[in-house]
Amino acid sequence: RFFSSSASSSRKLDGKVAVITGAASGIGEATAKEFVRNGAKVIIADIQDDLGRAVAAELGADAASYTHCDVTVEKDIAAAVDLAVARHGRLDVVYSNAGIPGAAAPPTLAALDLDDYDRVMAVNARSMVACLKHAARVMSPRRAGCILCTASSTAVIGDLAAPAYCVSKAAVVGMVRSVARRLARDGVRVNAISPHAIPTPMALGIMSETFPAATAEEVRRMVTREMQELEGASLEVEDVARAAVFLASDEAKFVTGHNLVVDGGFTVG
Ligand code: NAD
Repeated sequence: RFFSSSASSSRKLDGKVAVITGAASGIGEATAKEFVRNGAKVIIADIQDDLGRAVAAELGADAASYTHCDVTVEKDIAAAVDLAVARHGRLDVVYSNAGIPGAAAPPTLAALDLDDYDRVMAVNARSMVACLKHAARVMSPRRAGCILCTASSTAVIGDLAAPAYCVSKAAVVGMVRSVARRLARDGVRVNAISPHAIPTPMALGIMSETFPAATAEEVRRMVTREMQELEGASLEVEDVARAAVFLASDEAKFVTGHNLVVDGGFTVG
C-alpha cells in the first residue's frame, strides 16, 4: 500500500481536466501526452483534425478527446471549454498554446506587411485573451483553476526573423502580468511559458522560408544550433511539457503572473 500511494503521488495532475489548444502537433501534443501520463484528462483543440484525432486516439477515449477549434473564433474556444465541463464535470487547466510564426521578415522594415501582423496577432495574442476570458468564466465562480499560455524566448529578447511574432509573444506575457493579481483573488493562476527554438513544424517552417536554399537537414541544424552550443543537447518539446505539468500542478499553487523561460539559459546570455 505504501508503494502504491507513492506511485500515484508521482502523477502530478491526477483527476484534473485540461483543454490544450494547438495540441495536434509539437509542444501542445507533447503536453497533452505528459498531462495524461500524469493522470489528467485532456481536450485536444486544434484545426488539424486528422492529426488531432490521431493524438486523441493514441491517448485513449477515456483520457482524451479531440475537438475542432480555430482559436481565432471565440465561439470555438467557448465550445472547447464547455466540452471539458460537459464531458468531465470540471475544468482545471486551459493551456492556450496554438500559434503561428507569420511571414519571415522582409529585407527592410518599410516592407512590413501589416495584414500579416493582424493575422499573427489574431492567432497568437487575441486567441490567448479569448482563452483567458472563457477559462475565467468557468474557473472564477469555482474559485480554482490554472491558465497557461505559450509565449516565447522572443518575447524576452526579440528576434529579427519574425517581428510580428515577437510583438504577439510580448503581448502574451503582458496579458499574463496584467491579469494575474486580479485572477488571484478568484483563486485562479495564470502563467506564461517561454520556450526557445525547438524543431517543430512551426519553427522548421519559418526557418526554411527565411533560408529557401537550405536543405531540410540544414534547417533543422539552424533551429537547434544555439541550444547545442549551450548545453550539448537540443531543447525538446517534452522539456516544455514538463514545465507545463509543474505549472498546472498543485506544487505551483503560489506561482502566478510568471513567465517561465525554458531555454537552457539562452536569454540570460
Ligand atoms: P506546431 O506547428 O508543431 O504546433 C502548433 C499547433 O497550433 C498546430 O497543431 C497548429 O495546427 C495549431 N494552430 C495553428 N493555428 C491555429 C488556429 N487558428 N486554431 C487552432 N490551432 C491552431 O508548433 P509548436 O512549436 O508546437 O508551437 C506551439 C506554440 O509554441 C506556439 O504558440 C509557438 O509560437 C510556441 N513556440 C514555439 C517555439 C519553437 O521553436 N517551436 C519556440 C517558442 C514558442
